[in-house]
Amino acid sequence: MGLSRSVEGLGVLVTGAGSGMGRATAKVFAEVGASVAVTDIDGDAVEAVVQEVVRDGGVASGWVMDVSDQNQVEKVVDGVAAKFGQLDIVINNAGISKFVAIDSNEYLDAWTTCLDVLVTGQIRVIRAALPHLRQSDCARIVNIASTEGLGATKFASAYTTAKHGVIGLTRSLAVELGGEAITVNCICPGPINTGMTASISDADKAVFARRRTALGRYGEPEEVAHATLNFCLPASRYITGAVLPVDGGLTIKNA
Ligand code: NAP
Repeated sequence: MGLSRSVEGLGVLVTGAGSGMGRATAKVFAEVGASVAVTDIDGDAVEAVVQEVVRDGGVASGWVMDVSDQNQVEKVVDGVAAKFGQLDIVINNAGISKFVAIDSNEYLDAWTTCLDVLVTGQIRVIRAALPHLRQSDCARIVNIASTEGLGATKFASAYTTAKHGVIGLTRSLAVELGGEAITVNCICPGPINTGMTASISDADKAVFARRRTALGRYGEPEEVAHATLNFCLPASRYITGAVLPVDGGLTIKNA
């Protein structure tokens, strides 16, 4: 593959691709010629994204996949590899968010769900994908964490712990899989306009973004998708274990 800047013809699987950053990621990879497996827990959302990609001239295949369902993950990952004849790139994006105080009655449920979907979900997909990635000349894993993996927000300890875990997982697997030329990198999005932040009013978003980010605004899902694509280029083969904030400068702004 050399130091090409093209992912044309590669097989890409995106989790949580029915909405937000996953949807944007599926569309961006399809625009540059990759074959994209659109996977999500919500079948209607999957179908809608597949139709958008195909309408725009891209190659996409839709799959219902709940990352907390071990059997389904194994079946879908193998099914995608069989359909495309290869699976080169995995984007672990599926997510949920929970804000729960440590002493609330709902806390342990939120903790279990966050760890299961956000961390174990990524592990399930990676374990299922590994035999296929090992056949690729451009094997790439990108895990979506959060700026909550680098800092903390009140009442988000279950989510925050999980996102810190995604960074640890990324670094560990970068070391473990480096000898096989499989790169593992991680993106830490800041505040992004997606389904996850849709319930926050525009006025509250504007106040937060002006106060907390260097760029003074929320980000768009496509801006994260392009950072993800950069990690997956054949030319990015010497980048592994990296943790990249895509946060409008949130993590570097003191005042
Ligand atoms: P989003 O618009 O809600 O998209 C997340 C997608 O994942 C949804 O389609 C969701 O389906 C799906 N999903 C949820 N549970 C799933 C499961 N068990 N298996 C498969 N799919 C599942 O949110 P987003 O902001 O794009 O989130 C993408 C990633 O970015 C997440 O990992 C999130 O933690 C992270 N992130 C987001 C922000 C932000 O500001 N938006 C910031 C930092 C990090 P349903 O809608 O049916 O639940």
